[in-house]
Amino acid sequence: MLNLILFGPPGAGKGTHSIKLSEKYKLVHLSTGDIFRSEIANKTNLGLEAKSFIDKGKLVPDEVVLNMLFSFMDKHLDENGFVFDGFPRTIVQADKFGKMLEDRKISVSTVVSLEVNEEELITRLVKRGLASGRTDDTEEVIRHRLEVYNEQTKPLLEYYNKKNLLHTVYGVGSVDTIFEEICNVIEKNVKGKYDLI
Ligand code: ADP
Repeated sequence: MLNLILFGPPGAGKGTHSIKLSEKYKLVHLSTGDIFRSEIANKTNLGLEAKSFIDKGKLVPDEVVLNMLFSFMDKHLDENGFVFDGFPRTIVQADKFGKMLEDRKISVSTVVSLEVNEEELITRLVKRGLASGRTDDTEEVIRHRLEVYNEQTKPLLEYYNKKNLLHTVYGVGSVDTIFEEICNVIEKNVKGKYDLI
């Protein structure tokens, strides 16, 4: 399986590039944020629980995210692989995820981190909020999400770097140029190990 983690702060472009990667390499796009938004739209219990955290810019508790992710993954284990978008977001999530993959004899193939400065992130997210009406894309909540990212999610860069899995791509510029660079990183690092379509 080809299992890619697309890593980065809110607004870095993970969603955009994950969709393109899932199409190019025929992978399942697994966005924890998208799953929560769909649960919220369907007014499920999981959606209601997640909404109370998301609207404040907080992370949904690890247990809730992990249960949802594992049950989603187990339905797709016969596919080519996954693009993980917005997961993992804490060290606890990454550790439990690693063990879960090990149990299933699979692993993370590579981690691509999109680097974008904070000013640019805030500009992008405020603009997205105006267009989409996403309730967590207001300036106050965005600033809190960036703090949460710096405190709880950023340490994962070092975590995956120690495992020799981390690669960085500069995420400002044209979508096509950035996507090309992401694909170059993937093809250079997983070449020979997987059938890249
Ligand atoms: P963004 O990357 O712009 O923050 P997402 O759609 O990935 O957008 O996430 C939106 C919100 O969903 C997050 O702020 C968080 O509350 C929740 N969420 C998504 N993924 C996770 C996760 N892996 N762990 C905890 N909370 C998550």
